[in-house]
Amino acid sequence: MPQDALVNSTIALPGGHCIDQLGTPESANRWLAERGLAPADAGLRDMFAAQLRSLREHLRALFASRVEGLPALPADLSAVNDAMTRVPTAPLLRWDDENGPYRATPHPTTQIVDHALAALAADAADLLTSSDAERLTACGSAPYSRYLLRHGRRHWCSTRCGDRARAARAYARRTWSGKGAGTVSGTD
Ligand SMILES: [Zn+2]
Repeated sequence: MPQDALVNSTIALPGGHCIDQLGTPESANRWLAERGLAPADAGLRDMFAAQLRSLREHLRALFASRVEGLPALPADLSAVNDAMTRVPTAPLLRWDDENGPYRATPHPTTQIVDHALAALAADAADLLTSSDAERLTACGSAPYSRYLLRHGRRHWCSTRCGDRARAARAYARRTWSGKGAGTVSGTD
């Protein structure tokens, strides 16, 4: 799962601030365009950006359920299934007079957002049911906002989070040994 997946489109900054890459229609449009899911000038409206943010929250809830081995809420499942079925995503059969039959997915401009939502929901559904899902984890460093696929022992979304987690552990070790309870052991 790429770091820039929909579930990771809110970026936490030091100091408790965060940037929502889908916070405005313009930024949401840019986010979709960078992934080839909408033209750069699609002119997304507020409502569409809100739909994207809503799908993101449902997906994050499902990812959390998967990571923690908990049941999923029906509302989160229906949101994903609705997104995947609202528009036809199967490539239709077309026939070109010169070149014969071919298949193409219809993309009427009025349905750009629905297609984007369907594609994003399908990606997440594929991931959740793939063998990779075993490695799905939430970043091991506060504020635990990003999801990633674990590689070996690495369970941070970024070098910065890894450094922060190590610093926090070192601090905890110092604090504990200062109290004479040196039982906290580091793992790396
Ligand atoms: Zn992180």
